[in-house]
Amino acid sequence: MNKGRLIVISGFSGAGKGTVVKRLIEKYDYSLSISATTRKPREGEVDGKDYYFKTEAEFKSLIDYNGLIEWAQYVENFYGTPRKFVEDEIAAGKNVILEIEVQGAMNIKAQYPNAILIFITTKDIDTLRDRLVSRGTETPEVIEKRIKRAAEEASSMEQYEFIVVNDDLETCVDAVNSVVVSEACRKENCTQFLIDIKKQLEEV
Ligand code: 5GP
Repeated sequence: MNKGRLIVISGFSGAGKGTVVKRLIEKYDYSLSISATTRKPREGEVDGKDYYFKTEAEFKSLIDYNGLIEWAQYVENFYGTPRKFVEDEIAAGKNVILEIEVQGAMNIKAQYPNAILIFITTKDIDTLRDRLVSRGTETPEVIEKRIKRAAEEASSMEQYEFIVVNDDLETCVDAVNSVVVSEACRKENCTQFLIDIKKQLEEV
């Protein structure tokens, strides 16, 4: 069986990545990695569904036991991708989505060169600010920190192979899926298929 691939989705805070990922999973066949974080749950967030919420000590022990394939500090908290789920799903041939920030994405690319890196953005920064404010989950101070972080992250956008604008949700979700489908069709990703079909033709 072909191994699954890692699909890394990053984007500015407020670009609607979470909504895009949720819809992507409803509409198409992907596995979603649930991250560990030291951030406090937002209203309505559920432990084990949105994140594994950890204390700093628990998070550090996950790092010490090599339980994360990557981790990073984002604004005031730590975030990391649990190793076991990702490795098991890839081995089972599943495409796994990691919704992570830029440092983590670069770390994944270094370890998994065939990971697909996709950056989701709003069409402009005013839309980003409006979304962060209307979400109402962060204080004005944290919103400003997140906008500053977006400015830092903008310089890393070029490290991503694909940039998708999230203006209309369905269009964005379909674009992300198309990227993954097209990548699977690259001849470099079909070597076993090419070997098999040539062999069958020889036997005709
Ligand atoms: P939020 O606090 O808004 O849920 O997430 C803040 C940022 O952390 C987002 O950019 C999100 O993509 C990123 N993030 C979530 N989980 C992980 C993770 O496991 N690793 C890394 N490196 N970033 C993550």
